[in-house]
Amino acid sequence: MAAWSQPRTVIVTGGASGIGLAIARRLAAEGAAIAVLDRDEVTATAAADSITAAGGQAIGLAADVTDRPAIDDAVAQVRDQLGPPTILVTSAGLDGFDRFLTITPAGWERILAVNLTGTFHCCQAAVPDMIEQRWGRIVTISSSSAQTGNPLMTHYSAAKAGVVGFTKALALELGPQGITVNTVPPGFVDTPMLRRSEARGFLGTGVGQHEATTPVRRVGQPEDIAAACAFLVRDDASYITGQVIAMNGGRTT
Ligand code: NAP
Repeated sequence: MAAWSQPRTVIVTGGASGIGLAIARRLAAEGAAIAVLDRDEVTATAAADSITAAGGQAIGLAADVTDRPAIDDAVAQVRDQLGPPTILVTSAGLDGFDRFLTITPAGWERILAVNLTGTFHCCQAAVPDMIEQRWGRIVTISSSSAQTGNPLMTHYSAAKAGVVGFTKALALELGPQGITVNTVPPGFVDTPMLRRSEARGFLGTGVGQHEATTPVRRVGQPEDIAAACAFLVRDDASYITGQVIAMNGGRTT
């Protein structure tokens, strides 16, 4: 059964790398037109080109999710080039490791700006098209850090916990208009972000150490998250909203 009864346009923020890229590729394979939005034009375009080369439809757009005018402009470009975006996945994210007492106010603000306020900007820019179409799907990418906390990540954990609360509240507000809003908090997924943490020594002896204590005994793959996301944005997921769908190999239940 097709995912949608009519053509759909998707915006994936952070779509040039890791989890966002896997989601963009998966939804393109399901037949949606994809706008890959990322802060670097070269990587956003390369991601879109890889989708096109695989037979999908995609454009790449450069915008920083903390820059509201740039986000508004990107959404307008998507509407013009691909049609009204009625699916939004917010995967753009920035991690950070610092002791609580040495986090600077500017460092705190930056982590909140990208992860939480960036999610707000993208949702507020995209929702009017969904309201007009009386159909929409939003999936925010939060983090298992919001569920458990994480050492040296008070700022990141707070920002991602904010995304969870934001998602639940937005689901209540938009439900009557045919728009669902859910969050996927990933945990321990093999992406450039995770490997950067490993290289900087924040994963103990490395990914292997954590695989040994993960119930499914492996690191997650971006495609695992993409599979959950593809399910949540289908037509027939219309009764699922305001939910936290954790994807972490059983590390957090
Ligand atoms: P990733 O490979 O680093 O991908 C994140 C993408 O977002 C990158 O292309 C990055 O660009 C982009 N980005 C960062 N700041 C941006 C901004 N201000 N505006 C627009 N784009 C921006 O990381 P990932 O692991 O796939 O992470 C995807 C999401 O999952 C993030 O929200 C992350 O917090 C969350 N997450 C990941 C894990 C995990 O285990 N991997 C666990 C929990 C949560 P640059 O590369 O140029 O910075």
